Amino acid sequence: MILELIQTVALLLALSLLHGFSMRALAARPRLAETASGLIFGTVCVVGMMLPITLAPGVIVDGRSVLLSMAALFGGPLTGLVAGAIAGAYRLWLGGGGMIVGTTVIALGVALGLAYRAAWARGWLARKPLSLFAFGVTVHALSMVLIAQIPEQSIARIYAVLGLPYLLIMGAATTLLGLLLQDLAARQQNERSLREREARLRAVAGAVPDILFVLDENGRCLEVMTHDERLLYRDAESVLGHRLQDILPEAVGNLLMSAIRQAIVSGTPAITEYALDTPSGHRHFEGRIQAIEGEAAPRTVVLIVQDVTRRILLEQERRIAAIAFESQQGMMVTDARTRILRVNQAFTEVTGYASEEVIGKPARMLASGRHDEAFYNALWQQLQAHDLWEGEIWNRRRNGEVYPERLTISAVRSEEGVVTHYVGCFTDITQSKINEEEIHALAYYDHLTGLANRRLLTDRLHQALGHGSRDGWRGALMFIDLDDFKDINDLLGHDAGDALLTQAAARLRGAVRETDTVARFGGDEFVILVEHLPAEEVAAAASAERLANKLLETMSAPYALGSQARVCTASIGIAMFAGHRQTVDELMQSADLSMYEAKRQGKNRVRFFDPVMQQTVAERLQFETDLRDALSGEQFELHYQAQCDADGRIDGVEALARWRHPRRGLVPPGLFIAAAERCGCMPALGRKLLEMACLQLGRWARDPRFSALRLSVNVSASQLYAPDFVAETCAVLERTGCPPDKLVFELTESMLISDMAGAVQTMEALRKLGIRFSIDDFGTGYSSLAYLQRLPLDELKIDRSFVRDLPDNTSSRAIVRTIVALARTLGLRLIAEGVEEARQLRTLMDEGCTSFQGFMFHAPTTLDAIEAKMGSTAAALAAGCITEPAQAAARADRVAAAETAQETLQ
Ligand code: C2E
Ligand code: CA
Ligand code: CA
Repeated sequence: MILELIQTVALLLALSLLHGFSMRALAARPRLAETASGLIFGTVCVVGMMLPITLAPGVIVDGRSVLLSMAALFGGPLTGLVAGAIAGAYRLWLGGGGMIVGTTVIALGVALGLAYRAAWARGWLARKPLSLFAFGVTVHALSMVLIAQIPEQSIARIYAVLGLPYLLIMGAATTLLGLLLQDLAARQQNERSLREREARLRAVAGAVPDILFVLDENGRCLEVMTHDERLLYRDAESVLGHRLQDILPEAVGNLLMSAIRQAIVSGTPAITEYALDTPSGHRHFEGRIQAIEGEAAPRTVVLIVQDVTRRILLEQERRIAAIAFESQQGMMVTDARTRILRVNQAFTEVTGYASEEVIGKPARMLASGRHDEAFYNALWQQLQAHDLWEGEIWNRRRNGEVYPERLTISAVRSEEGVVTHYVGCFTDITQSKINEEEIHALAYYDHLTGLANRRLLTDRLHQALGHGSRDGWRGALMFIDLDDFKDINDLLGHDAGDALLTQAAARLRGAVRETDTVARFGGDEFVILVEHLPAEEVAAAASAERLANKLLETMSAPYALGSQARVCTASIGIAMFAGHRQTVDELMQSADLSMYEAKRQGKNRVRFFDPVMQQTVAERLQFETDLRDALSGEQFELHYQAQCDADGRIDGVEALARWRHPRRGLVPPGLFIAAAERCGCMPALGRKLLEMACLQLGRWARDPRFSALRLSVNVSASQLYAPDFVAETCAVLERTGCPPDKLVFELTESMLISDMAGAVQTMEALRKLGIRFSIDDFGTGYSSLAYLQRLPLDELKIDRSFVRDLPDNTSSRAIVRTIVALARTLGLRLIAEGVEEARQLRTLMDEGCTSFQGFMFHAPTTLDAIEAKMGSTAAALAAGCITEPAQAAARADRVAAAETAQETLQ
């Protein structure tokens, strides 16, 4: 019976293991698994009940209690109940006398199993062999008690039949089944946690950006894990099972292999970096290799590959930035609150602060105090709006010196857009500022007086026209020319001239407001731009005039020139402006012209420009154009004025130029000589006139009636100083057959003084040819004995202004007397010009003058007329009645001269 019992139990235990399949197969669906287990256990119970050990008719024992109690203990209520229900149903279907008890035994097994389970869950009971055994014995003892309740059965009988072996076998079977189920559960638990661990590992591999390889020691890839297959740059199949050496470039493969070996040998992680050309460009990787523990060959390793391209590039950038930071420019990095974090060597060189002296300090410690709050406000506004400020700023060095720098501040923002740092980058521009100022001074200021130059004044005038028209004020442009400055310069030398100009500049500067511009245009020409005059025209002109008169007064005070005090008055021309009605050039011309008008009207006065003058400007320009055109034609002619002795005997003539203008008629030289000088055509005109004069003198020389005649020709400064004047004169003499000893060149004192040495040289060369020299307008310049002696002179010509006032003006008479004495002393011929009246002639004769030129004798006239006159004069002389005809002629000439002048003015 014992053997039968063991047989039954063994079969049931074996069948119970089927439960393991259901659990594994249905691991994912616990409810279904429990139900299936219940079905299996129930079915096994039924099998067990089919092979009963019949104790007595209708009384059977089997292993059902073992199964059901363990099904409830390990499977839980669902398994227990399903198994119990199947077993119970079968037992009921069997029927018989033990049906009730049999069913109750089934219920008892399930109930006790569930109770054990509850106690185990609460920790009151363990599922250990001893407890299981005690539980099995208890369950089957109770079963025996229940079986004893079957009619005709008793405890004693049952015990006698089943006895201790039943209890021990069933107890052992329960223990065995419990342990089997326990092991099954534990294995399942293990499998589950393994699966979970693997899932976790997969999750981790998926979450990190790195690629994870499992490789064997030969570099063969056993497993790849990545969140993104594309990172492999090839499909996983072509990686899996292949060796690194075969799929990577040789160098990289070798590198990784040696790292794998190192990791295996050392047991610590090996780290290596390498670069690869990938479809997304050249990229850098870091590989970390860790050997997997275990002795099995081949050994395996895990390789974690991370794309570190960004980090490498950042490092490179950082290295470059570090080098760039130590550049020639001063650099300063601050935090968002402008506390200095870092400075470079150039910063220290410029500011004088060592880095440890400034780090942690606010950047404003460098402020110079030269800029106001508005400046810094504007700076911050700009910086906040554009993250950049560029400009020039004054800062202070450690030694207190304030210096200019060119500064760029850039704001550095975090990815969230918050300013984290400011980077300041600057260069010391002290030297370039100095250079700039020097250049500016050179470009815009007159070096002698420090006044503005033409360029600056023109700029300011441009601006003034704009501002004036916008703000509605008027302005005035004043041209100021020193009267007779040239004489002072010539007489006292350039140093004195410079001193005078400097003092004049200071006076002008002192007489006007700060806002007005005083300029020097070179020479003795000053220009003042007066701004902010009243808007009303007359009032504005009145203020300008007041200012100009004040200027005249200031300028007319004596100048201290060395030991001497000299007076030098000025003439002022004013052009008023209001907005853009005139251009800058027009205004300049107007003021210039007014100034000439002031001079023309007798100097030391103020003249305004008015529209009539505008007309004059236009005419002047036209006149100059005509003049240039005329040079190539035959419009110029010479008139001749006789030079006589007291008896009216003509011994020479002066050639005087005339311009037969197609519209204006005969133009006197007073109108066109200066214009020719101004427009630069005087040398050409001079050549032309000299040629004409020489041609005539040559003809006269060949005519016995006029062969003794001297011809005086006026020579201008631009001719005298032309480098080829001597050669040209030589050529002219040759060409025309003119006798040089009959030719007299008239020069004025002032033109000699400007370059005395040059003049002497030229004159001496010409003197050698035989040409004589006369000083024209003598007495009006600063004649001195010294220079008269140096010059190869033949004649002095007393200026008309002295003759005019004779005999009443005693000072003129005194001058005449002095000149006569001077000429005698120097052995020079003397001639008085502009003799118009008999009493002038008489006075001159009384003073000892012997030669005369003037309307009283003959006015300048045409060639034919002069030749006729020379003929008739000779006849008159012969008849001894010179005086009458001479006076008559003078009167007639005066009328003719007046008519010519009238004609010209029209
Ligand atoms: P200048 O050399 O002093 O010439 C004398 C001027 O006085 C002439 O004026 C003449 O007409 C004028 N004159 C002569 N007698 C009398 C008189 O009794 N009373 C008055 N009030 N005037 C008298 P013109 O011809 O108009 O020449 C003016 C100036 O133009 C000349 O002054 C001379 O400086 C210049 N000039 C004339 N021809 C030439 C020339 O061919 N070359 C150069 N470079 N200058 C010339
Ligand atoms: Ca002359
Ligand atoms: Ca003269």
